[in-house]
Formats: sequence, structure tokens, C-alpha cells
Amino acid sequence: MKILVYLKQVPHQDARLDVSGDGTWIKEENIKFEINSYDSYALEEALKIKDQDATSEVIVVSAGPERVVQALRQALGMGADRAIHVRDDSVDATDALGLAKTLANVAKAEKPDVIFMGFMSDDGNFAAIAPMVAELFGVPHATAVIALTRNGDTFIAERELEGGNLEVVELKAPCLIAVQTGINQVRYASLKGIMQAKKKPVDPKSAGDLGVAGQLAAKVAIEKIYVPAKSATAEILQGSADEIAEKLVAKIKELGLL
Ligand SMILES: Cc1cc2nc3c(=O)[nH]c(=O)nc-3n(C[C@H](O)[C@H](O)[C@H](O)COP(=O)(O)OP(=O)(O)OC[C@H]3O[C@@H](n4cnc5c(N)ncnc54)[C@H](O)[C@@H]3O)c2cc1C
Repeated sequence: MKILVYLKQVPHQDARLDVSGDGTWIKEENIKFEINSYDSYALEEALKIKDQDATSEVIVVSAGPERVVQALRQALGMGADRAIHVRDDSVDATDALGLAKTLANVAKAEKPDVIFMGFMSDDGNFAAIAPMVAELFGVPHATAVIALTRNGDTFIAERELEGGNLEVVELKAPCLIAVQTGINQVRYASLKGIMQAKKKPVDPKSAGDLGVAGQLAAKVAIEKIYVPAKSATAEILQGSADEIAEKLVAKIKELGLL
């Protein structure tokens, strides 16, 4: 089975984020980055298939500046076979649709049996790329997948719905599966894997290589990013844990919520 995994590199969960000078993004200097948490689970689903069938090939793909090679190398260390780095300023500055067009063209060139992605990114939270890529590539998809089984080229996916409900869908390859966090236990890269990763190829691709040059002008403009002002009515309860609990219950009763 040929498997594509789309990985986004996002600011580390513990990174202190400051808004950039023009107010439309964050300052990226001096912060650490990591693989988007949802995408680590997506990669693990791909590697589980490779564990069962050594003839499977896992290709990891990331779009972004030079720093994303680090995320790709980590994925190669965990067991992916090769990587594609989409490196182009016009891709970095595009919107969700532009990025989806770019990633769908990677799929059109590679012709995978299955694509694994995260349900959403930890930073942008669009949750848009997976359905868009599936539509543009012309394959069925399932999002918010919390359990997955495979029988040949058929996948049975359990999807998380509102209110604790689940939905079970069947997809035939080629298809796209966008996973929810917690679907599996993500493996660590072994020392041997890290050493082997150094020899695995990371193939750079530009917008031109992928046939999207001149098609990526963002139609969604980010007006501003800001930290909401703290509400003047916020009250911090003081005291011991018992006193705080007592005050909290009194407040809840006061508001008629109990
Ligand atoms: C400098 C800069 C300028 C930007 N300008 C704009 C703008 O003008 N307008 C605008 O709308 N947005 C802009 N963006 C945001 C950017 O285009 C978003 O990343 C994009 O819209 C997708 O949103 P998301 O990452 O939240 O995707 P989601 O749909 O939440 O991500 C779902 C999944 O898609 C995959 N994925 C997402 N991104 C990548 C990636 N880079 N490589 C590989 N796989 C990926 C992952 O599997 C991920 O789990 C800008 C970003 C940057 C860094």
C-alpha cells in the first residue's frame, strides 16, 4: 500500500507566543516547533500499516519554510520511507484553499492508496484542509476518526460526533482519513531509526513543480491576531482550596446555576 501522510510543523505547545509587528501572525523567531499533535497520530496509523505489510511505502509531506525539514526528518526517524518538502514562499503565504490545491497536486503526482492527515492543526484550527484535499483529489474521506480497521483495500472508520455519539463509515481505497487525537499510541523514533533517517531522501518541490504557480493568491486575508483583553468583571477567588470551593459553590448558587 502506498501511503501519504501530511504533516504540519506548528509552534511547540510550551512556546510563548507573541503577535508579530504587523499584527497578522506570530513572531516565529526564537520559538521551538514540533509536529502538529494530530499529525503524529496520522503518521502512527500509516506506520501501523507498514508494520503489518513491509512492502507498504510511507511518504511524509510538509509545506513550509526550511525549519519543517526537522519535522520531516523526525518522521523519517520514526519509520517513514521518504519525504517531500513543499518549499515556496507563495505556498507559505496562501490560505486554506491554496494549500489544499498544492497538497492535492502532490497526491495527484504520487497516486497513494490512502492519505492520512490530522483532523486539524494545533495553531490554525481550520479543520478544512482534509475535506478540501479529498475533494480536489477526488477520493472519499472521513474526518474526526477515533478508530480504524482495514480489510484489504477497505477501511472501517469510527468517527466522533457531537454529544459522545459515534458514526461508523466504510471507505474504499483510494481514500483520505483525517484522524482525531488519541486514536493510537504514538511511537518514539529509535536511535537506529534516527541514524537511518539521515540517508532517506527529502525531495524539495516548488509551486511550479506542483503546477500551482500563480494560483495561490490568498482569498482569505488575516485582518489581525490579538490576545483578547481580560474581562473587567473577572474575579480571582482567594483562600485555601476548601475556602475557594465554598466561594465557588456560593457564586454558582447566586447565579442560579445550582
Ligand atoms: C506567513 C503566513 C501567512 C498566512 N497567510 C494567510 C492568509 O492570508 N489567509 C489565510 O487564510 N491563511 C493564511 N495563513 C494560514 C495558512 O494558510 C493555514 O495554515 C491554512 O489556512 C491551513 O489552516 P490549518 O493549518 O489550520 O489547517 P487544518 O485544516 O486545521 O489542518 C488539517 C491538516 O492539514 C494538514 N496540513 C495543514 N497544513 C499543512 C502543511 N503546511 N503541510 C502539510 N500538511 C498540512 C495536516 O495534516 C493538518 O493536521 C498564513 C500562514 C502563514 C504561516
